Amino acid sequence: MSSEKFDAIVVGAGPSGNAAAYTMAKAGLKVLQIERGEYPGSKNVQGAILYSNALEQIIPDFREDAPLERHIIEQRMWMMDDESFVGTHYRSDDYNKPPYNRYTIIRAQFDKWFSSKVREAGALLICETTVEELLLDGEQVIGVRCDRLGGEVYADVVVLADGVNSTLARKAGFHGELDAGNVALAVKEILFLPEDVIQQRFNIKEDEGVVIELMGKVTEGMVGTGFLYTNKESLTIGVGCMLSDFKANPLRTKPYELLEKLKKHPSIAPMIEGGEMKEYCAHLIPEGGFNAVPRIYGAGWLIVGDSGGFVNAVHREGSNLAMTSGRLAGETVIAMKAAGKEPSAANLKLYKDKMDESFVMKDLKKYRKLPEVLHSSPQFFTAYPELVNRAAKTFFTVDGVDKHSKEKEILGSFRSKRSLTGLVGDAFKIWRASR
Ligand SMILES: Cc1cc2nc3c(=O)[nH]c(=O)nc-3n(C[C@H](O)[C@H](O)[C@H](O)COP(=O)(O)OP(=O)(O)OC[C@H]3O[C@@H](n4cnc5c(N)ncnc54)[C@H](O)[C@@H]3O)c2cc1C
Repeated sequence: MSSEKFDAIVVGAGPSGNAAAYTMAKAGLKVLQIERGEYPGSKNVQGAILYSNALEQIIPDFREDAPLERHIIEQRMWMMDDESFVGTHYRSDDYNKPPYNRYTIIRAQFDKWFSSKVREAGALLICETTVEELLLDGEQVIGVRCDRLGGEVYADVVVLADGVNSTLARKAGFHGELDAGNVALAVKEILFLPEDVIQQRFNIKEDEGVVIELMGKVTEGMVGTGFLYTNKESLTIGVGCMLSDFKANPLRTKPYELLEKLKKHPSIAPMIEGGEMKEYCAHLIPEGGFNAVPRIYGAGWLIVGDSGGFVNAVHREGSNLAMTSGRLAGETVIAMKAAGKEPSAANLKLYKDKMDESFVMKDLKKYRKLPEVLHSSPQFFTAYPELVNRAAKTFFTVDGVDKHSKEKEILGSFRSKRSLTGLVGDAFKIWRASR
């Protein structure tokens, strides 16, 4: 490896690392990016919804050549029991007017494309190389050691964009051990189907897409959700629950068994029927929220993306938080270099200030109490989906029973599972934790 010194080394070529490397290289900084995968995206997993705004801030004309699958025109949210679902659908022709707000993407293709932009901007990328540890001079990070002969490289700042299981930050003492209560384990499949079949089944035209977010009995009382997204010629289906809940689940259900159960649900099975499985993968998602975000800057180092726990699990946003944190980290290093300042912790604190001012930390802060509320309230994933579905069935079934009696029956079924104080208390808990 090179003995020359870089302005910045970025570890990882996912959305956060690419955003950081692109921002700095574009501004003329000397940037080295190191990725352990065979190519950027080869090891990365996402649903995947791309939120345009975060990428627009980095590459405004990305729509010209980025590998985008479908723009989203309809959002569905389903609360499921074993046989049925109660859902909301929001579909708007406004979402059919460019510039489109969200797209489905295939991460392996998207990360490759983003990386090509990083290299065009002037960064040097080395793949199939793992950074094994950070090089320290006292408390100051001065570079990295890689798994290559003579693999020591030096830089003013090292940006850790190495994803959820950041062993580097842990080894250096910036993170504690991963807490099973702060990470979800998600599994997903890509199922190939002809384009026209997808369009008929989801009532969409050429490039239009649909997002379905799922919650309810499918997670067996564990805190978690499922999803189904339309790509151009495939569907992505997945489910994820907190790792601590998988460990504690008395049924000992494995993640792939949950996915199989989801695929067999009578409302899901017809939509995916005939789909040929092309990809199966499992990945962790940092879902601890605001209270689980570690220290994100120090002397010579910055933490971005999943490595910093920047995922908004409520809105299923991660890649946009990753790209925004990567961009803000890049801008911090640019400002520091332009002012001729040292890469001290005090000078890199600007990154934290920028993050606190951004939607990333504001949104995480808004929902900071939610993980605890959901963990202590399994009824949101068991009793309520069942009750809501039963209520809908009672209400919509025409069977000679008068409507007043039906309303009484619905109320009674809620009261039999939750006392009035329990019901009001649950509504209050959710309201307070989402303010
Ligand atoms: C099933 C699933 C569905 C999701 N759906 C969505 C969605 O629809 N929309 C959304 O916005 N977000 C979604 N997310 C979250 C999103 O994928 C992440 O927030 C995002 O990928 C984080 O980007 P990152 O660059 O920080 O980390 P990553 O994408 O994980 O990239 C980290 C990179 O670092 C490399 N690396 C790690 N260690 C080293 C090392 N020591 N040396 C060199 N390289 C290293 C890895 O190979 C990898 O390329 C989903 C996540 C999962 C798991």
